[in-house]
Amino acid sequence: PGILYIVPTPIGNLGDLSPRAQQVLQQVAAIAAEDTRHSRQLLQQFAIDNEVFALHEHNERERAARVIERLQRGEDLALISDAGTPLISDPGYVLVQQARQAGIKVVALPGPCAITTALSGAGLATDRFTFEGFLPAKPQQRRKTLEALLTEPRTMVFYESPHRIVHALEDLQSVFGAEREMVMARELSKQFETFLHGSIAEVRAQVLADSNQQRGEMVLIIGGAAVQQDTDEVNAQALRTVQLLRQHLP
Ligand code: SAM
Repeated sequence: PGILYIVPTPIGNLGDLSPRAQQVLQQVAAIAAEDTRHSRQLLQQFAIDNEVFALHEHNERERAARVIERLQRGEDLALISDAGTPLISDPGYVLVQQARQAGIKVVALPGPCAITTALSGAGLATDRFTFEGFLPAKPQQRRKTLEALLTEPRTMVFYESPHRIVHALEDLQSVFGAEREMVMARELSKQFETFLHGSIAEVRAQVLADSNQQRGEMVLIIGGAAVQQDTDEVNAQALRTVQLLRQHLP
């Protein structure tokens, strides 16, 4: 059987399509893409004129079966999405799962992804983090999702859309409080790349004051909840207090 390549594409800057990604996209028999028109435009810039066919969230199940047939016939195929790494808030999970079940070799190339790009430039703790994808669009569900994360100690990464950014920041502030540290990374690798850093209230004020900050593509990173002091430390402190009191009591 052939190989299924998972190929990340730029999240803004065309220079980020790696030489290896270009080579793989040249060599495969065909490329599965989320939006064929959008991807043909990208491929054209690299003089790649392979067959491109649609694989998006509405036809993934049905298309996956056909892709696997082609792989089993010995063709190498690649999967790309509109931007960044496929399967990361993008289609591909069903295909990769089925390919693995069918015993097909899957090769995932490293490359652009808004999560790692935002995190690596944000300056919030990166030793442990959780990716939460897009927040629910409905206000009530969005609040519920955030409330469930109130005591999450790891740094939290969210994708957000410009249509909802103002409401999202409002909910973030009311759930996590005005003082929690955050970063909003916008238009990464593009001309108007911006990192806003501060408390949730500070970042929110900047976004409200400047409508340009409400445009484009954005990642929100929220600092984790302060970890509770561990019980040994608390006990040791209590013991010291009691000893001090004893010295002063008759
Ligand atoms: N697969 C992509 C990846 O690897 O990052 C993510 C696809 S998801 C449908 C699109 C979301 O990713 C945007 O709404 C935004 O939250 C984030 N994103 C993508 N490109 C970005 C960029 N250049 N700057 C900031 N955020 C970006």
